[in-house]
Amino acid sequence: MHKPRFLDQLTAELADHEAFGTQLAGRRPFQPEHVEPQWPRDRQADIRHIRLELTLDFERRAIAGTATHRLAAIVDDLARLEFDEAELEIKAVRAGGRPVEFTTDGGKLAVTLAAPIKAGAEIEITIDYAATQPRRGLYFVGPDAAYPDKPVEAWTQGEDEDSRYWFPCYDYPNDKATSEVIVTVPARFTAISNGALVSTAPGASPETRTFHWRQEVPHSAYLITLAAGEFVELRDQAGAVPVLYYVHAGREHDARRAFGNTPRMIQFYERIIGVPYPYAKYAQVAVTDFIFGGMENTSATTQTADTLHDERAHLDFSSDPLVAHELAHQWWGDLVTCRDWSHAWLNEGFATYFEALWCEETLGADEFAWNLRQDRGNYFGEDAHHYRRPIVCNRYRAPIELFDRFLYEKGALVLHMLRRLLGDTLFFKSLNRYCTQHRGQNVITQDLQRAFEETTGRNLDWFFDQWVYKEGHPELEITSSYDDQHKLASVAVKQTQQVNATTALFRFTSSIALMDADGAETRHQVEVERREHTFHFPSAKAPKAVRFDPGHDLLKTVRHKRSREALETVLRYAPEAIGRGEAASELGKDGSAAAIAALKTALLGDRFWGVRADAASALGAIRTEAAIAALVEGLSVAHPKARRAVVRALGEFRDRPEAAAALLELLKRGDPSYFVEAEAALALGRTRDGRAFETLRAVLERPSHQNVIATHALSGMAELREERAIDVAREMIPYGRPPRVRVAAAGAMAKLAELSQSRRAEILDLLLPLADDREFLMRLRIPGALEQIGDPRALGALRRLEQSDLDGRIRRRAGEAASAIVEGRTRSEEGSRMRTEIDKLREDNRRFEERLARLEARGGRNGNS
Ligand SMILES: [Zn+2]
Repeated sequence: MHKPRFLDQLTAELADHEAFGTQLAGRRPFQPEHVEPQWPRDRQADIRHIRLELTLDFERRAIAGTATHRLAAIVDDLARLEFDEAELEIKAVRAGGRPVEFTTDGGKLAVTLAAPIKAGAEIEITIDYAATQPRRGLYFVGPDAAYPDKPVEAWTQGEDEDSRYWFPCYDYPNDKATSEVIVTVPARFTAISNGALVSTAPGASPETRTFHWRQEVPHSAYLITLAAGEFVELRDQAGAVPVLYYVHAGREHDARRAFGNTPRMIQFYERIIGVPYPYAKYAQVAVTDFIFGGMENTSATTQTADTLHDERAHLDFSSDPLVAHELAHQWWGDLVTCRDWSHAWLNEGFATYFEALWCEETLGADEFAWNLRQDRGNYFGEDAHHYRRPIVCNRYRAPIELFDRFLYEKGALVLHMLRRLLGDTLFFKSLNRYCTQHRGQNVITQDLQRAFEETTGRNLDWFFDQWVYKEGHPELEITSSYDDQHKLASVAVKQTQQVNATTALFRFTSSIALMDADGAETRHQVEVERREHTFHFPSAKAPKAVRFDPGHDLLKTVRHKRSREALETVLRYAPEAIGRGEAASELGKDGSAAAIAALKTALLGDRFWGVRADAASALGAIRTEAAIAALVEGLSVAHPKARRAVVRALGEFRDRPEAAAALLELLKRGDPSYFVEAEAALALGRTRDGRAFETLRAVLERPSHQNVIATHALSGMAELREERAIDVAREMIPYGRPPRVRVAAAGAMAKLAELSQSRRAEILDLLLPLADDREFLMRLRIPGALEQIGDPRALGALRRLEQSDLDGRIRRRAGEAASAIVEGRTRSEEGSRMRTEIDKLREDNRRFEERLARLEARGGRNGNS
């Protein structure tokens, strides 16, 4: 699943890094005390084949049909079988063709066999069922009065445990079966599912068509998919593998632009994994209102239609990360599948790292390093401001809670360190062994470790222990000195993290680069395993600069004080862009004329856009006249992502009319990039210039990719702190506006609630009903908005969401927001006035938590609470 980046995009567009309300709250426990471990499920039967024969009724938003499971008993004398089902109408059940008794209770369909069967014996269970307006699993999309142009579609989303909402099944990853989906849809529709298309034929009713798909490679139930709509099919080819894209008519060019690299990616992955693409075809279906970025159903990935983009967006937006991620899952997650969610990093960490590997392959080492830097930033953000947990962790309430920065980003960064530890040859050879040995199976982390150990002969207990089963990362302090008499450079490395039962004293290999004034470097490999090491290197003269871990391969934080001259040298000469960028950022804390000059040179002349962007941000942190002049000059840089950073930095200059003037001018003349214009709108708001309001209101109307300009203009308006911005935001909130614009308006409102007590009440009245909004994105955003306002009157709505929303992400955010309000940890400037009220509420909250714990203890054991 592609989740975090999708939400990143959302938060980035809001340009409000507190968007989800967690940033200032500080680290909380990952789970409340009372949450018990979730152990993998026991199986009584091995499901061998699942056959779904279904009819989709788009008028009634209903599904009806038959699910047939061919299975073999694992246990002896199997007399009773259980399937998962959620809100399905079970009509009849047959075993071996004969009607049998069944009951449904608590999300389980229990089937009693006429006579017990022996271990190994096969039986076929046939279930007739129907569902009308399913709330999860199968989503019907279509036009309504507010969105008359929305296309008619139906699509499924199984992961994590939602397949049971559209067919009765064993809904847990630790079972794999082949499958068939035989689905009848209106004749003008195309239905896409897993595996090969066996046939299409006229359906039994007039004006219908039946598609028969068959997946010959066993897969887990959460990977079974169905998507139907009036799609056009575009064809491509990767060697012998047919590659298909499904989009609505009119988006063909956008589809090629978004998905066109797929064949090359398939061949790249085949080469580095050494295992051919395993399925009959690879299809990507772009669907409307998808609740993730993408979902890697075997051979038939669902992608958000939001990733389709025009030529202008393509200037500085690419679907490659999303496409590469989902494609990588076809091996990592689909062919080799985590046995249970606690090991889901074997799916998501891999897909995230392979996203980066595609980036390295096509864009080079510096872009690759930037990609990993972004992963680190996301991980550090969640670790510092949200919670900390080990990558493998079985204490959770809903599995989706695990799909976070630890699973994705930290997982990817750990794989990267393993690669650097072993070298490319052994790393990929080990991955090949892991994939070859476990294809078609379920895996746990130990399987991966063993494949690496068997391939390399090395013991890796320590590596997996410190990075995967324990939590945290090295927090390093680096100091260096030079002994002129003995011609020795010394570098001391100290691990300062608190070492305890959950956080290790880390063992790692890294390198130290000693740089001369002219940029010449010598590098030394070092092994660290103690709390403190001092390394001595012969050196004819004092190094101008010392760089620890010059490639930035180790996941760590570093405190390393270096002189301005040293940083200037690094900024000028470091071969890796990532090192130059870091030096630029550090120079931003210096602020001297010399630092500004060095940053300006980098901004205008560095060969990598990321370093230019870092130099711009550093100049934004300096905030002097010379810095602003350099930035205005920097508006001419060619790379749109660097220009974005320049524009963002100009937003730092409040009370500097020339910064606002430059932004106003840019917005007036326009920029080739949507994203630069969007960033300029937000930055203009941050300057709080008197001329900003009217410009932002006008900019709000500009069409753009994913409405990025409008959403940033709304966030910019929130920064203005003018009451009239409330009225603009209010106009953008109603159902019927573009979903992302609505969400941005809600965020802006929350921020503007600080303006006055009376406006706060008004805004709260407006936002509270949105906790029940039809749109998923809005319900996901609302808890953060209410947390920001910090008014205890929101607690009822938040508790309701926490208890009853069907999406685990929303439940979790709602719970966090409610706790933050109760504990008074909100960002509201007026929050302190409410302390007394809050104290009263604390007591209520304590009682509530007790009740919730009791409820969960009673009903939540099946992991589907
Ligand atoms: Zn994924």
